[in-house]
Amino acid sequence: MDDKCIFCAVANGESPADLVLETENVAAFYDINPKAPTHILIVPKKHIKSVNELIEEDKLIMGELILIAKKIAEDKGLVEEGYRIVINTGPHSGQVVDHIHLHLLGGKKLGPIC
Ligand code: AMP
Ligand code: ZN
Repeated sequence: MDDKCIFCAVANGESPADLVLETENVAAFYDINPKAPTHILIVPKKHIKSVNELIEEDKLIMGELILIAKKIAEDKGLVEEGYRIVINTGPHSGQVVDHIHLHLLGGKKLGPIC
């Protein structure tokens, strides 16, 4: 837990969020500035700054994040039309919150990635 990190605060229940799902290690909540009709963020409760800081022991947690994204996509009815999972990493990607997170985006035809 990083005291100055907004996603640590959300994931640990210390800052309000529109929670979608929570497990022992993961929290999923609606993005406050949605870029698609469904825009949900999936984060580990462990503070990991970005993909660049991942270590071997994070393999399980990263797998859980993707499986939770899949489950939420099913629950929100996104499977048939499709959806996108994004992990921004570093300044050129547009990453602004330095706590690793998956964006789950769906509910409309999404534009090209770049
Ligand atoms: P990124 O550019 O990948 O770092 O994306 C960060 C995302 O977090 C943006 O889409 C923001 O709208 C979203 N965001 C920032 N603060 C919060 C918050 N407190 N609750 C929900 N979403 C947030
Ligand atoms: Zn954090």
